[in-house]
This record gives sequence, structure tokens and C-alpha cells, in this order.
Amino acid sequence: MHDIFSSSLSRIAPELYALGIKERDRLLNGINLIASENLPSLAVIEALTSFFSVKYAEGYPGKRYYSGCEFVDIVEETARNLAKEIFGLDHANVQPHSGAQANHAVFEAILNDGDTILALSLDQGGHLTHGHKVNFSGKRYNVVFYSVDKETQLINFDEVEYLAEKHKPKLIIAGSSAYSRVLEFDKFGEIARKVSAYLLADIAHYAGLIAGGHYPSPDSADFVTTTTHKTLRGPRGGLILCKGEFKEKIDRAVFPFLQGGPHMHTIFAKAICFKICQTEEFKRYTKTVIENARKLCSGLIRQGFKVVTGGTDCHMFLLDLTDLNITGKEAQDILERVGVFVNKNTIPYDPRPPAICSGIRLGTPFITSLGVEPEQMDIVAEILGDAILRRKNEEIISTKVRDFSKEVYKMCGIFDLYNR
Ligand SMILES: *Cc1c(COP(=O)(O)O)cnc(C)c1O
Repeated sequence: MHDIFSSSLSRIAPELYALGIKERDRLLNGINLIASENLPSLAVIEALTSFFSVKYAEGYPGKRYYSGCEFVDIVEETARNLAKEIFGLDHANVQPHSGAQANHAVFEAILNDGDTILALSLDQGGHLTHGHKVNFSGKRYNVVFYSVDKETQLINFDEVEYLAEKHKPKLIIAGSSAYSRVLEFDKFGEIARKVSAYLLADIAHYAGLIAGGHYPSPDSADFVTTTTHKTLRGPRGGLILCKGEFKEKIDRAVFPFLQGGPHMHTIFAKAICFKICQTEEFKRYTKTVIENARKLCSGLIRQGFKVVTGGTDCHMFLLDLTDLNITGKEAQDILERVGVFVNKNTIPYDPRPPAICSGIRLGTPFITSLGVEPEQMDIVAEILGDAILRRKNEEIISTKVRDFSKEVYKMCGIFDLYNR
């Protein structure tokens, strides 16, 4: 073996290569309902393996610290322009390595230590970076949480307004990882203007649906942050958009304050992802994602499950298991054993601690990308019913799961990438 440099992964490290194959097969033989995961298209994966991963390009287009940036400048400029077109704000920063970094940068750009943030708490559907005590955001800032209504489980805008007037936050965050209904950005915007707070819309989960025109756009926000790998179906990464007046502050917060060299291959892949977002096919995919989620939701309700808020307007929803004598953690574990992947999730006012929970979150982006259609969702609902309600023999359910995936996944060609 003299040619390590040009040998394939399977020759260099067969045991690690085998893990990659196992992971592919896990995804292909199971039903992945994790709402934050998705399968990027082949062009995005190709972009991720491009030679742009080599390039150091600290700075921004036209203002770099390294030579040789002719092409990365065009790539980053293209990604920024496409992002602005899609989400309709004045400025885009495509360098954040992830959604958490994007939020961190917005906070750094406009907040001082001790400033007040008003956000939805993690256990009600918010995100760690929205002021949870174990996160930097909860340590550095004074965080006040709004909540959802106990009865309707919808965001309680009377409370948002009351807390905004009482605490005069500098920043209000409209965003969630588990809220299945429409986030009323207009209402948040009105309240933010009333108390002279900035509004951040964290659309990490909904970005693809917004790009596809099937979820309201956060036009009233001063800042928009998102991941690019959830419903948007791009590479793992983050994105910030903002009004023109905040351009310099945002750019300085990302680099040099928080990050070093941008991941240019990822930015290349973000540009590809944004181009795909503008196609009719992408719009159809986002419509189907929501139809699939709604169909799954109604199928589960018919089987006797309780759904938080009673339905969904997006790609995901929460099952409330409190009446079923099973915890979220137990449900997640049972489902994993039969090849169905979900995550346990607190439901609003959950009586159990977060590590156990009383809910699971279900989402349809991944299986929709694999070609699953609404008429096939009843089978998925039945499988979940067999596993959780009827506690059927695991062998039988596993077989059903494998049959389902064999029958309906149409986009498997993408997985051939790993067969080389
Ligand atoms: C996923 C998510 C993030 C964080 O994204 P990472 O890429 O995991 O850092 C931030 N905000 C919300 C609302 C999210 O759902």
C-alpha cells in the first residue's frame, strides 16, 4: 500500500467505511420521523465534497485576508443574493456554522450582558439558545419566557404583550422547534414595535416551508436566523438575514468575533440549496411535507392518539402520551427497536422531567424527500399505533417497517453515492 493519498475510504479504513454503510442502511430500512433531519439532494452533497473545502477565506467577498479568493467571492456573493431574494431582507450572512452560531451572532450584534430577552421556553417549544439556563444565552442575558395557553396550546399573545410591556425587553424571539401551528410574525412585530424591542424570527424549522411559499414569511422581523439543513434541505449550517442598518454589526459578530475561516464548501452547498429552493419541484416538496404531516396527524388521531393543538400547519407535531401510560422516552425506545426514529419531546406543561417527557415529536421532511406520498401515511400511523397503543410483537412491526421502506422510497439512487 504505497498510495494512501489516492486510495478510497473503503480501502484506507474498511471498518469505518462499514459504519457509513450501516448508517445508510439504517436510514433506508427504517422510517425516519425526526423533524429536524432531512436528506439533501445529490447536488448539495456534491457541493459539500468540492475543493472549496480547501480554501481559507477569512473576511467577506472583496475583503479577504488571503489570496486566491476570486471564485469563493463569487460563490459567497451568489449565496447571499439568493438568500436575500428568497427571504426578502436587505442583508444576508451565510457564514454561520450552524443555527446556534447564527443566534449567538445576532445576540452579540445587538445585546449587552444583562439585557432582557423575551422568548418561548425550551419546555414549551423554544430552543436552548433562546435563553435556557444551561446555554450561554441563559447565563449572559436576563431572560423572560412567554408560554402557550393551557387550553388551546397556542401562543398566548396577551401574555407576550403583558410581559413585553412589563419587562421592556431589548429583543423578542419568535421561533420554535416544536410549535406545529402558524407563528404569527405580524403579531410579534406589532408588540415589538410597541415596546421598541428588536424582533428576531428564528425560522430554523420552518425555513424550507417559507421558501416554498407554504408558511407565513417573517416580514416584520429585524433579524431572521435559520439552519439550512432542516426543511430547507441544504447542507448542515446556519444563515442570518437582517435589515440593512444592522449589516456591519452582524458581519462583525460572525467574523471576527465568533468564527474564523468560513466553510466555503458549505457556503457553496448553501448556494446550490437556495437555487433548488426557487424551483417548482422544491415548492411541491414543501407542500407534500405539510400534507404528509397532516395526513399522519389525522391517521394517529383516528387511532386514539392525542395531538398537541389538535393538528399541524407545518412539517411536524407533538403526540401527547399522558393518557396512554407510556412516557416519551419509552415510546422513543420502543420505536427505535422496530426501526422508526423519533425524538422524545416535552409537551406544554409536561408533568414529567425533560429526560423522560410525556411526548414525542414527529416530522415528515426526511420521508417526503425519499418520495413518500400522503396516501402512504396511514401505514405509518398504523405502525406507530401497533408499537405504542397495541404493543404488538416487535418482530412483526419491524417487518412492517422494512416492507414499507422497500415499497415506497423512490429516491434511493442518492444512496448509491456510498456504493462506490
Ligand atoms: C435546530 C434549531 C436551532 C439550532 O440549530 P443547530 O444547527 O443545531 O445549531 C436553533 N433554533 C431553532 C428554533 C432550532 O430548531
